[in-house]
Amino acid sequence: MEKDIIIIGAGPIGIACALECKKRQWDYVVIEKGALTNSLFNYPRNMTFFSTSEKLEIDDIPFISNNPKPNRDEALEYYRRVATSNKLHINLYETVNAIKKDGDGFSISTTKSNYTSKKVIISTGFYDIPKLLDIPGENLPKVTHYYKEAHNYALQNVVVIGASNSAVDAALEIWRKGGHVTMVVRGENIGERVKYWVRPDIVNRIEEGSINAYYNSEVIKIDETTIEIKTPEGLITLDNDYVVALTGYLPNFKILKDSGITISDDDKKIPSYNSETMESNINGLYLAGVICGGNETHKWFIENSRIHAKMIANHIEKDFK
Ligand SMILES: Cc1cc2nc3c(=O)[nH]c(=O)nc-3n(C[C@H](O)[C@H](O)[C@H](O)COP(=O)(O)OP(=O)(O)OC[C@H]3O[C@@H](n4cnc5c(N)ncnc54)[C@H](O)[C@@H]3O)c2cc1C
Repeated sequence: MEKDIIIIGAGPIGIACALECKKRQWDYVVIEKGALTNSLFNYPRNMTFFSTSEKLEIDDIPFISNNPKPNRDEALEYYRRVATSNKLHINLYETVNAIKKDGDGFSISTTKSNYTSKKVIISTGFYDIPKLLDIPGENLPKVTHYYKEAHNYALQNVVVIGASNSAVDAALEIWRKGGHVTMVVRGENIGERVKYWVRPDIVNRIEEGSINAYYNSEVIKIDETTIEIKTPEGLITLDNDYVVALTGYLPNFKILKDSGITISDDDKKIPSYNSETMESNINGLYLAGVICGGNETHKWFIENSRIHAKMIANHIEKDFK
């Protein structure tokens, strides 16, 4: 199959790129390995965005929310409506395995087909690969790296690992649904980036003893019924039914490296791109959305990266004229 443009990933930013291609009447397709906006689909069922709805809009298409900050269902509805009402070309449940420079263009192989295209936009986000703890017991079925909802944790001993927004939201929700929650935090406090209206809630729940917290601590072993935690006061063992490990996620660096994109040697692992055009060090291969931050997964989000779609389209347009 020959295309002008292939967009990899149907998250909010991939969809924004598709809208730009459609406006310019380019022959494009978005290839998505999961459901439409797969990352958002996998977010906690009751999550609320920290952005107001107008900041999540793409191409100025109005996003009306019933709440000051929209929730997951509203965001799914919004991006779904944008994709369906604009009849965007999106192939779902098809994974891109490789992108190879092929003359002036690219060849792309996926789990279902092979394509050639003049340009490629990678907008694959970072939510697919959890940062693993690498400890015994991490593979037990009682351990998850993706929190969905609280009901199944009621009356259970639950350890939440992490102190970021996701961990704090999960700890509070599980506690409110009757779970016995212990947080294990590597640093000395709850994360500074936790939403300003949520932070006092978790701090007060910990101070009053409703939620237990170990700071400067690490989980070192998990088994069927217990968990071992290394704390500044020494090793402790707690009875444990479930572990919700929310220690962050990593972008898929392999697909970037294999396609020839260079990545910074430091811990940040930032992929190379021109910040005015979003073109990577490979001509015709672009980066869009949160993937641009490498390991700095907090740097880019929908609010500040939706603009990438227009920047890329404006640059490609010069070549296509
Ligand atoms: C709990 C939570 C709350 C958040 N709240 C906000 C907020 O309030 N405001 C805000 O602006 N941002 C927020 N963010 C961040 C925001 O969700 C991300 O910035 C956004 O999803 C990025 O969009 P994206 O299109 O770049 O990547 P994604 O939405 O992650 O989309 C990438 C897509 O690529 C697909 N993909 C990956 N690899 C392949 C492959 N090889 N082949 C095919 N498809 C592939 C994935 O399945 C996915 O659908 C939040 C994030 C989290 C986790």
